[in-house]
Amino acid sequence: MLKAWRDLRAQGVFIPEYINDILNQPIFDNPFIIHNAKSFYFQNYVNVGLIKVCDLCYNILPGILPYEAILDSFYDEYDVNSKSVKNQFDVILKALPKEWIDKLKINSDFAENSIECQLVIDENSYDLSNLRSGVVYKFFTDNVFKDPTCISHWESNGFNVEWKQVWKSVSMKSSECIDNDFKIVHNIIWNNLKLYNINILDNPCCKLCNDLSDETLLHMIFKCTSIKPLLNMIQDMLEYFSQNTGFTYDQFKYWMIFGYPIRKENNNVFLILVFSIATISIIRRRTLYNKNGIIVNVCTLFKRMFINYIKNLKYYLQMKGFGHKFTLMFLSHPYVKLDGDNVYVNID
Ligand SMILES: [Zn+2]
Repeated sequence: MLKAWRDLRAQGVFIPEYINDILNQPIFDNPFIIHNAKSFYFQNYVNVGLIKVCDLCYNILPGILPYEAILDSFYDEYDVNSKSVKNQFDVILKALPKEWIDKLKINSDFAENSIECQLVIDENSYDLSNLRSGVVYKFFTDNVFKDPTCISHWESNGFNVEWKQVWKSVSMKSSECIDNDFKIVHNIIWNNLKLYNINILDNPCCKLCNDLSDETLLHMIFKCTSIKPLLNMIQDMLEYFSQNTGFTYDQFKYWMIFGYPIRKENNNVFLILVFSIATISIIRRRTLYNKNGIIVNVCTLFKRMFINYIKNLKYYLQMKGFGHKFTLMFLSHPYVKLDGDNVYVNID
């Protein structure tokens, strides 16, 4: 095409005036598109199909595409040096005649022929070209996203869940904690009842206690008598932190499933982590039993995991320059102590 253009040019110059002539102009080796007093040629642009002025423009709307859209054209083709693509794009923008850019901005030909895209959201009409992403985001969250099935599951089981709190409760948690909490809240942890229902097990009962109860998620992480010593240990800690307010049996059950809520006080991060790591240790102990037939002491497993977690968190925060946060979160109560660089966690 560029060769044809050169040949044609040799026949005499015509000045592009109308919008379609401008849009059809080659970008490179074009005597109208001049940088430092000469035309130029960028092979990488030609390779990805950015050849004519219209290739730099929107299809329906008037105007030149933003750089990000230009860069997108390169990603499938190249190991992109985005800096040089940007520099080249700046050269092209500077070199395009000003009157062309003005015409491309109004681009009346296109405006007349284009379809007006309008969206009606909450009885307000929006022109697609001026639509803010916030409006679209709200539209999707209000109208398109569906509640996860766990919401109806827990409601039908009598739980009145503060979901906003639940989704927010990720403070200081490791990805393993977040992942495990997510699975619990969505009721997607395998248990014997689920396995029985799909004919993998002959019996839905819990194997870790003698209750002959079906092993549901709630049984596994709260009702099973085999985890009673751990629940007692957590209850002692809760009593220390709730001296003024107290707590009910139902609140305790709720926190084992949905996590301890985030509050303003820094030291509640301690309890958030206690609940999160408690359920991981309960589920890990069950997995160990199912795989190897070994029953591990649930309190010992929890303590080891929790102490390691707190130690690692201290080093992590220190490394990030947030050592003072560790002090605020963990040293205002008797469960964690520092001696020089050593952390002692006292949760017996
Ligand atoms: Zn049990």
